[in-house]
Amino acid sequence: MDFLVKNKTYTAQRVFCIGRNYVAHIEELGNEMPGSPVIFMKPATSLVPHTQKAIPYPEFSKNLHFETELVVLIGKEGVPADEADAKNFIAGLAVGLDLTMRDVQDDLREKGLSWEISKAFDQSAPIGEFTAFDPSGDLKSLKFSGSINGELRQNGDSGLMIFPITRLIKELSKFWKLLPGDLIFTGTPAGVGPLQHGDTIEITAPQGKSYSWDIS
Ligand code: ZN
Repeated sequence: MDFLVKNKTYTAQRVFCIGRNYVAHIEELGNEMPGSPVIFMKPATSLVPHTQKAIPYPEFSKNLHFETELVVLIGKEGVPADEADAKNFIAGLAVGLDLTMRDVQDDLREKGLSWEISKAFDQSAPIGEFTAFDPSGDLKSLKFSGSINGELRQNGDSGLMIFPITRLIKELSKFWKLLPGDLIFTGTPAGVGPLQHGDTIEITAPQGKSYSWDIS
């Protein structure tokens, strides 16, 4: 998928995702606090553009969860020197969904198996448009939200992240040299829950623009 930001086209490369980045969400799932960011990936082909109106409910799950997340677009190649420098690698910010088959995830996790399919399946990453980010801009009080059928369910604030965005970027760059078009789903705040057939999910980006999809 391509994203146009400030007249420049970025082709989505790797989709990095962060788990357990908000205390209240760790508590609601009864997970342990991580000492460093929990990292997993989705293929770039799991992205769903805002122009697509419906998302199919996966047939192998009976408990599809929404996770509303702030998404960072990387704009340049390299490894940041430090956390402050990490800001210079950000080209844009968006809001997206880390759709998760919670029953499949719990089942695999219980057996000690990789839970990749529960997170990385087709159409598991709906995403809105990117707004250009200026390195002098604020990353510490970005607000975003998610609603189901018009009812507010998730309120996000980047100021409540356990690992701030610049730390996440620095951490990822230890293992992967950053590339333009890399995306980072930065973790979900509390309030995750199941989706039903026929639900409409709407997510709102920090700049105030909303995007919605119907669950078919
Ligand atoms: Zn997530």
